Amino acid sequence: MHFVEVILPLSLAKTFTYRISEAEYHYIKIGMRLAVPFGKSKIYTALVIEIHQNKPALYEAKEIEQILDERPIVTEIQIAHWQWIASYYMCAIGDVYRCAIPSALLLESETVISQKTDLIVDTSQLSDDEFLVYEALQQQSSLKVQDIMSILNKKNIFPVIQKLIDKNILVLQEEIQETYKPKLVRYVRLHPKYESNEGLSELLETLKSANKQKEIVLNYFQLSAVEKKPITVKKLVEAANSSSAIVKALIEKEIFEDYLLQEDRVNFTGKMREDQLQLSSAQQKAFDEIKESFNQKEVCLLHGVTSSGKTEIYIKLIEEYLKTGKQILYLLPEIALTTQLVGRLRTYFGNKVAVFHSKYNNNERIEVWNQVLINSDKSQVVIGARSSLFLPFYNLGFIIVDEEHEQTFKQVDPAPRYHARDAAIVLAHSHKAKVLLGSATPSIETYFNAQSDKFGLVEISERYGNVQMPKIELVDLKDKYFRKKMTGHFSDVLIEEINLALSLGEQVILFQNRRGYSPVIECLTCGHVPQCQQCDVSLTYHKHKNQLRCHYCGFTMAKPSHCHSCSSVDLTTKGFGTEQIEQELVSIFPNSKIGRMDQDTTRGKFGFEKIIDSFKNREMDILVGTQMLAKGLDFDNVSLVGIMNADNMLYHPDFRAFERSFQMLTQVSGRAGRSEKQGKVVIQTYNPNHNTIQQVTNNDYLGMYKEQLYDRQIYKYPPYFRIIKLTMKQRDFNKLKEGSMWLYQVISQNLNMPVLGPEEPAISRIRNEYIRTIIIKIPQNTSIVNTKKTIQKMLNSFEAVAQYRAIKVTSNVDFY
Ligand code: ADP
Ligand code: ZN
Ligand code: ZN
Repeated sequence: MHFVEVILPLSLAKTFTYRISEAEYHYIKIGMRLAVPFGKSKIYTALVIEIHQNKPALYEAKEIEQILDERPIVTEIQIAHWQWIASYYMCAIGDVYRCAIPSALLLESETVISQKTDLIVDTSQLSDDEFLVYEALQQQSSLKVQDIMSILNKKNIFPVIQKLIDKNILVLQEEIQETYKPKLVRYVRLHPKYESNEGLSELLETLKSANKQKEIVLNYFQLSAVEKKPITVKKLVEAANSSSAIVKALIEKEIFEDYLLQEDRVNFTGKMREDQLQLSSAQQKAFDEIKESFNQKEVCLLHGVTSSGKTEIYIKLIEEYLKTGKQILYLLPEIALTTQLVGRLRTYFGNKVAVFHSKYNNNERIEVWNQVLINSDKSQVVIGARSSLFLPFYNLGFIIVDEEHEQTFKQVDPAPRYHARDAAIVLAHSHKAKVLLGSATPSIETYFNAQSDKFGLVEISERYGNVQMPKIELVDLKDKYFRKKMTGHFSDVLIEEINLALSLGEQVILFQNRRGYSPVIECLTCGHVPQCQQCDVSLTYHKHKNQLRCHYCGFTMAKPSHCHSCSSVDLTTKGFGTEQIEQELVSIFPNSKIGRMDQDTTRGKFGFEKIIDSFKNREMDILVGTQMLAKGLDFDNVSLVGIMNADNMLYHPDFRAFERSFQMLTQVSGRAGRSEKQGKVVIQTYNPNHNTIQQVTNNDYLGMYKEQLYDRQIYKYPPYFRIIKLTMKQRDFNKLKEGSMWLYQVISQNLNMPVLGPEEPAISRIRNEYIRTIIIKIPQNTSIVNTKKTIQKMLNSFEAVAQYRAIKVTSNVDFY
């Protein structure tokens, strides 16, 4: 008898055995998908991980329904990597499978599908089955896969659905349709007839008496000499301090011609400029050192200050690896950054660059998946966020983890709670590939690994083009409030600097980290602050919608007109977020154009891009934003960065609070002065003498590192101890209290290491579930594998206790 071992896309740690026929046995390969029955009547997409002849001892193996692939869509290296993730991060292999594969490849009987809107379908191109499904969807807007089974009166329908998805007719319900069309921007260039020297003098002759027009033309030459890229009408008008009417006149005279380009193609003019990239001597030195380091080690840290030109070094390295024919993965913390980067990389590598991320729809994702699988030219370089780690690389040579310190590399929920940087290092090892970690503010763990010779270390301490590091000025808020030098949340110093920057036509970034310090409504009479009904948090006030909103569960209510506790009508807003800063800006700088970038303004597929584009195009003078602004964006006209309040991050109850504050403040500051002129940063704080604030001001990464490392050792945190956090949730407060104490006791009795808890976290109830946590600190010299085994055993016995069965426990290894 023949069997296959498969993974199911369910949160189950086990693999399952199914029966196959002799013919199937010869056809099926590891990494193919099968449709298999599971439970009473459900069908799932399973993945083959083994083909064998061992009859399962405990159950009668069912037969498979159908083979879904003609060849493997997942490689054996991937399967091994998933197994590592499942075991290291203490989760089910099914969770990893589910997370790793685009959902359209994971059809199951419960999947809901619908037809794409605005679609003209050539029904003659459809098979009979496809047509029946299509027709059914004309009556009903959506159908479950199992409904389709009954419509077609058969079970083997995944291939039919898959074909319809491939043909762009069907979509999975969860997909949001995006309608943003990239914006077209108008550019000007000199008419070709004036390109020669004679043409030029002729031109200046014609313009002799037209001073304003001449001014514009001269400015055009100046701009094109420095910029070396297309010039927008807008930029030209600004540079010449002129008006678009005059540009129009020049176009009518056929001195200029205008043309339109799609915004995201600006840098990619079709011409690749392979040999134009010249590394500076500091960059070249770093480049050589990295290669040198790769001779000895698999991983190297590139620690280069903001704007040191790390990206250019990556580009040079990519160039080298491309020559070897191997695949290259460029991981970014956030999709916000990809547009800028993709533009930059495409000028060098053209269509060899593919992008992969979660905001892509299923078709786009499957397309990249398949390109990577066949090792196609079109995806030799993949840029993506953490999930691109799961693509079916076949021949990976090089992984870049840019901004490696970013916490978004760690998935929080759901499982697998993996860290993409660490999982990338493991993946690279099985491909015998090299890993470059890049950051201006490396995480303590990574720098520690570099210091202790596990990773190579290459540092650049100067900015590209000898631009100076920004000058940082601290403003003592206590003093400013005392002397009444504050207008709203703006100190006189900050206002003055903003005015100066604006008067020079330069742009300003203002940073307000809203986390933990959001605007709330407070009753002046009794002090009551409206709370979420389902979570243990205050509701956040959103002025724009005149609403109170819960940031944890999404609950909203209209802003109350009176206190719900004492009925007083004296309500006030307390705390401030980006929205309030924006409001204040409007009244302090009524003539400036102001934009805002935070979770509320960047929803949707192109949310970030829209804001970043328009700021880049100088359609805004001031951009206010949250930590999203800290992430490696490159704006050339920002001379001033203002940090509204540096303190609220410092006092998070988190062992990484100082490290994070340093990283965030340094990264945001790094957005200032990235072209010739030295930038300026104003940091408003109640603690100007705080060590971390001083370290930021003096650009003292090493000072921060040493101080934090010392604390980590004393208080038993990474890199000296590995942290596993267990989170328990239940609606019944008392049961949870009891159960978490039980679990804490067994674990601490069975482990010879610090176990803390069960603690009530700062936010101890979300969506009506109470929360408790247990922290386990594993010392460096203790086996993590054995420790996890012990923990898993305890968790299993916990699950076996009937009265605790309703408590959900999740494990977070290397908790961030
Ligand atoms: P980082 O990633 O280290 O913050 P970037 O790679 O964004 O720095 O570089 C900062 C700026 O300097 C960018 O505008 C980039 O185009 C420019 N730059 C860096 N290196 C070079 C180079 N070798 N040639 C031309 N421009 C460069
Ligand atoms: Zn809530
Ligand atoms: Zn009240």
